[in-house]
Amino acid sequence: MAIVAIQKCSTYEKEVLKEKIRNCLDAIGSAEFLKPGMKVFLKPNCVGAFPPELGITTHPVFLEAVVEILKEYTDDIIFGDNPATRDIIPVLKKCGLYEIALKHNLKIFRGNDLITIKNPNPRIFSEFQVSREMIEVDLLVNLPKLKTHSLTYMSVAEKNLFGMIYGLSKAGWHVRANNPLQFGEALNDLYGAILKAYEGRRMLHLCDGILGLEGEGPGTGGRPKAAGVIFASADAVSLDRVAASVCKLDPEKIFVTKIAHEREYGEGDLKNIDIVGESLSAFEDLKFQEPVNPHSTFGLRLLKYNFLRNLLLEHPRIDRERCIKCGECVKICPPKALKFKKAFPHLRKSDCIRCWCCAEVCPKNAILKSKRPLIGRIALKNRD
Ligand code: SF4
Ligand code: SF4
Repeated sequence: MAIVAIQKCSTYEKEVLKEKIRNCLDAIGSAEFLKPGMKVFLKPNCVGAFPPELGITTHPVFLEAVVEILKEYTDDIIFGDNPATRDIIPVLKKCGLYEIALKHNLKIFRGNDLITIKNPNPRIFSEFQVSREMIEVDLLVNLPKLKTHSLTYMSVAEKNLFGMIYGLSKAGWHVRANNPLQFGEALNDLYGAILKAYEGRRMLHLCDGILGLEGEGPGTGGRPKAAGVIFASADAVSLDRVAASVCKLDPEKIFVTKIAHEREYGEGDLKNIDIVGESLSAFEDLKFQEPVNPHSTFGLRLLKYNFLRNLLLEHPRIDRERCIKCGECVKICPPKALKFKKAFPHLRKSDCIRCWCCAEVCPKNAILKSKRPLIGRIALKNRD
């Protein structure tokens, strides 16, 4: 049976955090993961250059607590992520993670030495180029944040592994898998390839949900949410499923997790997950706000037809009062639907695939959602 450990924790005080993380590790069987002399890759959520108080990226104290525990076993620790549009070092500095890496003498990786991993049984894509250093280790420690997501509804453990794909190449996957359901399948094709690559070695998922993000995540469009929770599991799928319940998010809408469960990449059925530590009822009062207009199962099926996108869906709208003309959105936009015009980013609506990468990287929350067209409001009304 899959195990997910939960601990309540409402502070980023390091010693408290270490104790809570140790409790989680003991509950899921730390001896299975932590071996003397092992080579470890630490993968935070470091999607962009955002300060920790925004709740977008893994908190530096959470990282430090994990590092100090790992250091009891090994000094061979590589650390890093593949931010979407920028070099890793300035991003780590802004996120407060660089100092921790220096203090503990972690090797910071660059990400651009790539290796091809393969999914032997894909639904759409069989091969992925990922950063070699993330694969060639004894243990991958995945440190996601607890967040909602405009495109995928939630972004926790499994989605954080999309960061194994190098920098701007991630944007290309949004074009290749350009509707939400297809993107969910692509994420799972990748996850299947990662599971295959890690055969015989271990992955450990430790989620920083002390300060999470609700609403229009995973970037500055979301609102920081004091959730006061830590999750741990060897199974990303189980962790994501349990996290949805803790946050009172709709399990019918976590389509990435549902696909993973169908494909037997992990356990997505709560009945078959052993929840240890705190119980779900300990979080009775916690509720995350969903992203606006999340897709129902029916909506996801309808949006497989790309021509319906413009007719049915909201589109990005630039708030010129907030925009600082940094160009991050233009740089990342996978189909190049955003271009500068009269000093501000301008959207060519018909080219927009509604991936919301622009909102994810915008440092000023200047990319808002337009109102959903009336026909979309009628056609996509919940009818699961
Ligand atoms: S404008 Fe934004 S939502 Fe549209 S395709 Fe570009 S990045 Fe994606
Ligand atoms: S909308 Fe955001 S990302 Fe785009 S140029 Fe303006 S501030 Fe930068």
